[in-house]
Amino acid sequence: MLETPFHSEKASMSDYDFDLFVIGAGSGGVRASRMAAGFGARVAVAEDRYLGGTCVNVGCVPKKLFAYAAHFAEDIADAAGFGWDIASPDFTWARLLENKNQEITRLNGIYHNLLTSAGVSLINGRARLQDAHHVVVGETTYSAERILIATGGWPFIPEFPGREHVISSNEAFFLDALPQRTLVVGGGYIAVEFACIFEGLGCESRLLYRGDLFLRGFDKGIREHMAQTLGNKGLELTFNADVERIDKQADGSLQVTLNNGETIATDLVLYATGRRPHLDGLGLENTAVTLDDKGFIAVDTDYQTTEPSIYAIGDVTDTLQLTPVALAEGMALARRLYKPDEYVPVDYNDIPTAVFCIPNIATLGLSEEDARAAGHKLRIFESRFRAMRNTLAGRSEQSFMKLVVDQQSDRILGIHMIGPDAGEILQGLAVAVKAGATKAVFDATLGIHPTAAEEFVTMR
Ligand code: FAD
Ligand code: NDP
Repeated sequence: MLETPFHSEKASMSDYDFDLFVIGAGSGGVRASRMAAGFGARVAVAEDRYLGGTCVNVGCVPKKLFAYAAHFAEDIADAAGFGWDIASPDFTWARLLENKNQEITRLNGIYHNLLTSAGVSLINGRARLQDAHHVVVGETTYSAERILIATGGWPFIPEFPGREHVISSNEAFFLDALPQRTLVVGGGYIAVEFACIFEGLGCESRLLYRGDLFLRGFDKGIREHMAQTLGNKGLELTFNADVERIDKQADGSLQVTLNNGETIATDLVLYATGRRPHLDGLGLENTAVTLDDKGFIAVDTDYQTTEPSIYAIGDVTDTLQLTPVALAEGMALARRLYKPDEYVPVDYNDIPTAVFCIPNIATLGLSEEDARAAGHKLRIFESRFRAMRNTLAGRSEQSFMKLVVDQQSDRILGIHMIGPDAGEILQGLAVAVKAGATKAVFDATLGIHPTAAEEFVTMR
């Protein structure tokens, strides 16, 4: 898919092959490359796997497609209450996989065109730093005035006996067949999303988390409401336990022994226990680039590493591991280096985010606990209600909404929601919060009736 590299002659304007050599064509690397080239820089980007990186190939995009697929199970069941008779619906994993793969290939092509039409040289292969200004890909050495490391993250799986029997999210996107029983280990974004995907697609889905309540860092109201909602759906949640060992049985199934003595028989174990910076074979030791105490590449507020000609953005640094963050950093860096008069630093406050479980979680700003810990006196507004659609559907599931308001200034500090389309709803509210909206502004806003979202402007 990637073109053979166009290795430019040494330019008369510069002693380097390129002004900017980007390692990794994921969310951050592609955005930085395109923007820098658009500002007139001579840019190359090296990629050894897939254009678009994690998000397009094994992250946001295929995950959301799978989440849509899983959601149809409820949609079809709910349709009966609205008068529809849908005879024996059947699900074919292979068709979903094939269609998903086709869509990703289409997106890879779009990324290819975006980069080449911006004048970026695509280099197919694994890049290794030779020194502060040279990168080796295969047999070729390229020189660059500046180098950007945008190599993203990679799944982390802890050591334990039987580790070789588990998969990460990378493999979950390419399973040959959908197993009957699944166990997802972890309590973060990926674990909760995949447990719901498996459940929706008809697996007996179970989630195992080492702590007493999953989704650490989210508002406690969200965490508790979600645990109850998923439990009511039949998704089995096991907290305060961890895997001790996994043994493969003669029939190919897996026996998982927990540290509380329980054993679980399952067909697939997916580990979603976080991601680590992707640094393998990168050659950092040939440069003065250093890591921070968590193992991420250390950068200053301009994304400059401790080697002045080398920069780093996205998941390889200690930032929020979200595509819009990597995109924003790529854009900011390109402007900083090649269009400084248009430079706007990334604002890391009030970043909205969603967990695409079923139903969605969406959140922005401070949780109640973090707001209190920061010394705010608060007014809290909460609402739990059954969405109108769930009435005829006969579904008891409740949505949850919460506003965290600073008592003194009336500013909205945090918004939290569980419910259908929570991500879509919070994206709009995020603009209001960014603009400094107060609770009084929410109160003065008329609702759109009948919607679930109107609840956010009617909570008193
Ligand atoms: P990446 O996108 O990971 O790109 C890094 C690229 O560098 C990769 O293509 C890799 O192959 C390449 N590379 C690495 N080393 C080398 C080398 N030495 N030479 C050449 N190439 C190299 N975020 C959201 O905002 N919303 C979501 O819904 C969401 N869902 C996710 C679901 C999953 C399952 C996962 C794993 C992540 C999800 N994320 C989501 C997070 C998001 O994908 C990442 O935050 C984002 O992709 C980070 O972008 P990046 O540019 O830093 O790195
Ligand atoms: P997270 O950091 O979100 O969660 C990791 C989970 O694994 C935590 O529950 C953590 O527990 C647990 N864990 C960590 N180490 C161990 C261990 N040794 N043994 C057992 N459990 C362990 O990581 P994910 O892998 O879910 O996702 C990575 C990142 O990708 C996310 O943080 C997010 O930024 C991004 N992402 C975003 C999505 C979105 O925007 N919708 C979707 C998917 C991913 P504890 O809490 O106790 O530390």
